[in-house]
Amino acid sequence: MADHDPNCIFCKIISGQIPSRKVHEDDDLYAFHDINPWAPVHFLIVPKRHIASMAHITPADESVMGRIMTLAPRLALEQGCNPYPHGGFRIVCNTGAEGGQEVHHLHVHVMGGPRPWARG
Ligand code: AMP
Ligand code: ZN
Repeated sequence: MADHDPNCIFCKIISGQIPSRKVHEDDDLYAFHDINPWAPVHFLIVPKRHIASMAHITPADESVMGRIMTLAPRLALEQGCNPYPHGGFRIVCNTGAEGGQEVHHLHVHVMGGPRPWARG
């Protein structure tokens, strides 16, 4: 699989061709605010390498997926989610049409903040 898909909106966000509100960047990961937030805090964490979905994950991706899940709680607090257990956050990874995936570059939604939320 190519590292980048020239037609992918999230690859264009990672490369800076499309603007985004950056939350975090390192060698492997990029995180940015969702353009249409469902919750007071709503950002996405994506691998920089183009992986189409969770259905495409292989054992070679263990490390990057572990890094996403380890980063999520730290960024959630930094972005204003309240602490566990009264606060917390929701992690969602929509996969495929029936999973509600619209953008086919793997992304983890991190949502939190005081309720009610717009959705969910
Ligand atoms: P999903 O249904 O899981 O594929 O969600 C895709 C998410 O990407 C949605 O929540 C969109 O609001 C978000 N999104 C789409 N385009 C952009 C963009 N240019 N910048 C930030 N978020 C975006
Ligand atoms: Zn991509």
